[in-house]
Amino acid sequence: MPDRDKLQRFIFDQSDIRGEILTLEKSYGEVIARGNYPQAIKRLLGEFMAATGLLGATLKFDGVLTLQAQGDGPLSMIMADCTRHHNLRAIARFDPSYNFNTDESLAQLVGKGTLSLTIDPSNGERYQGIVLLEPENLASCLEDYFTRSEQIRTRIWLAADTGPDSPKAAGLLLQALPRQLETSAEENLRLWEHATQLANTITPEEQLILDHEEQLHRLFHQDQLRLFEAKPVQFSCSCSKERITQALFSLGEKELSSILDEAGLVAIDCQFCDQHYRFTRQDIQQLFDESPPVLH
Ligand SMILES: [Zn+2]
Repeated sequence: MPDRDKLQRFIFDQSDIRGEILTLEKSYGEVIARGNYPQAIKRLLGEFMAATGLLGATLKFDGVLTLQAQGDGPLSMIMADCTRHHNLRAIARFDPSYNFNTDESLAQLVGKGTLSLTIDPSNGERYQGIVLLEPENLASCLEDYFTRSEQIRTRIWLAADTGPDSPKAAGLLLQALPRQLETSAEENLRLWEHATQLANTITPEEQLILDHEEQLHRLFHQDQLRLFEAKPVQFSCSCSKERITQALFSLGEKELSSILDEAGLVAIDCQFCDQHYRFTRQDIQQLFDESPPVLH
């Protein structure tokens, strides 16, 4: 049974390293079916979704993890977000007059800019880390991010194929856990280097073709490793009438009233999922007559 839209955790018995492995198919297909994206951006969306899905799996609390790159290039913004329950979505903004070439890297397309990783817990403070978008591809940008931010050692390997019939994206993550075993810091580092060197030998083709067990066997057959049950990953948008209403409320009555004068109604289309939200003058009036909306 091939692994589709699945995420699996694995741990090594002899080292404080854990991993996540993921394959996206339907969820990725649903995202790139929208937005009229050029091939090069479809591929990058796959990488963003895979990376976000892997990083989201490391969240210990309810919340949303967002990975976003923005800059002055023809791909001005690309982002994906993921909840702890593995609901993924992604979007990109680009210059449609630019002739996108599939050989161009993330850094070339986004231009001078930044990569940010934001964690928004349902309860608690928002955290954001930012690095300059200097290395060529997303995986190396993230490596740079984790090195600079002095967070726990984390490495990611990504692959995406926009294939016309069956688009597929895949990812592998290794993360050093806080020390639990009776190994020295030096030994821990050696084990980490050993595991990442082995993971470096995986090719994007193998990530896209082999199932999770085969990939892990191919890389770590000499190590004792435990693979946990697969969890489903899906495309899902968190937009709702309540959230849109709250955004409208913050725009203010005056601004909305001028939109109503001009267009007759306030129309909002979610760019992630194409959901249409329509508000009449009466809806807007009601909104300001009642107390401020509360986000559930
Ligand atoms: Zn939506």
